[in-house]
Amino acid sequence: MPPKAAKSKDAAPERPILGRFSSHLKIGIVGLPNVGKSTLFNTLTKLSIPAENFPFCTIEPNEARTNVPDERFDWLCQLYKPKSEVSAFLEIHDIAGLVRGAHEGQGLGNNFLSHIRAVDGIFHVLRAFEDPEIIHVDDSVDPVRDLETISEELRLKDVEFLERRLEDLQKSMKRSNDKQLKIEHELCEKVKAWLKDGKDARGGDWKAADVEILNTLQLLTAKPVVYLVNMNEKDYQRKKNKFLPKIHAWVQDHGGEPIIPFSCVLEKNLVDMPEDEAAKYCEENKVQSAIPKIIKTGFAAINLIYFFTAGPDEVKCWQIRRQTKAPQAAGTIHSDFEKGFICAEVMKFEELKELGSEAAVKAAGKYRQEGKTYVVQDGDIIFFKFNVSGGGKK
Ligand code: GDP
Repeated sequence: MPPKAAKSKDAAPERPILGRFSSHLKIGIVGLPNVGKSTLFNTLTKLSIPAENFPFCTIEPNEARTNVPDERFDWLCQLYKPKSEVSAFLEIHDIAGLVRGAHEGQGLGNNFLSHIRAVDGIFHVLRAFEDPEIIHVDDSVDPVRDLETISEELRLKDVEFLERRLEDLQKSMKRSNDKQLKIEHELCEKVKAWLKDGKDARGGDWKAADVEILNTLQLLTAKPVVYLVNMNEKDYQRKKNKFLPKIHAWVQDHGGEPIIPFSCVLEKNLVDMPEDEAAKYCEENKVQSAIPKIIKTGFAAINLIYFFTAGPDEVKCWQIRRQTKAPQAAGTIHSDFEKGFICAEVMKFEELKELGSEAAVKAAGKYRQEGKTYVVQDGDIIFFKFNVSGGGKK
């Protein structure tokens, strides 16, 4: 029997996260027309995991599922040499171009905005390449203006949504004295004022109770963002681009989300080359693909983590949202694991790596037994114990 874990420091309550509580979260590619979104999406599609690896779900044409690169996973596969290897993946949706006025239905406005509502985070692609052949919807290349355009569209849509919600709440408040309605009304007013002040919902210092209400609203500006700055290959290679400092300053002023420079054309060319040729090209030109960083950053931005199950049959990453407790994490494997949950036997990846084998981890007393309140941490290697009869009916 492994030793019982000491009262875990990991269990310290963290503020609830803005966004859906699900392990099936996705990120959407958003940006003005002609900034490189489709080129990026097509590249990701070519890199994506074949659909037959997801036997029970339909992969839509506007959706790509790309492996999350992870040295820990590679190391575990080396150790166990399993028959099956299943890495984590990021689900990416292509959301066609947004234009100024979208919130009033310009372009395919409302449609696009509803697609953004359906994703959990945003890859915001910015054009920082100049090319007279490729027109810009607003005539000139100016990524900071574009940032303003898009973030304003999203904010205006949220304001409009909140106004409708406030009307509904007022009607309900006439009919009922429910305290909760008043609380929600106050919060909606507060968030609306915040947005009208030019700020995004994700940047607010909301209380835990506010976050719970906000999560029922799914505001567009509450979603996490990663900025992807598309520049020509030369700029990317020398890590210099004339727009980058201004983009950086704007982002710092507006929440400080991650910014990743990349070159759409380079990524497209690399993915079209045989692997060895691509490696040679990167070496000769002293460049590296930005895709692994884009995927990892996007995955973390939408608050996904994963734990491993590892053995000679399979090494697998199970993705869950941050703050998931052990029984719910077990439930991602099978609903019976959650219903009949007894405990989670946990090894920390670093300890397994340092000590070299499961037996050595056990001998060192570092194989821990965690209960129902344990908050699963990224990279935990878990063996769940569950009671079959406790599982009841499926
Ligand atoms: P979307 O409208 O945002 O989906 O943009 P696309 O991916 O369709 O790209 C629009 C055009 O810009 C295409 O012709 C791309 O080949 C081109 N393009 C994308 N990235 C770059 C770049 O870094 N440099 C240059 N010169 N052209 C690019």
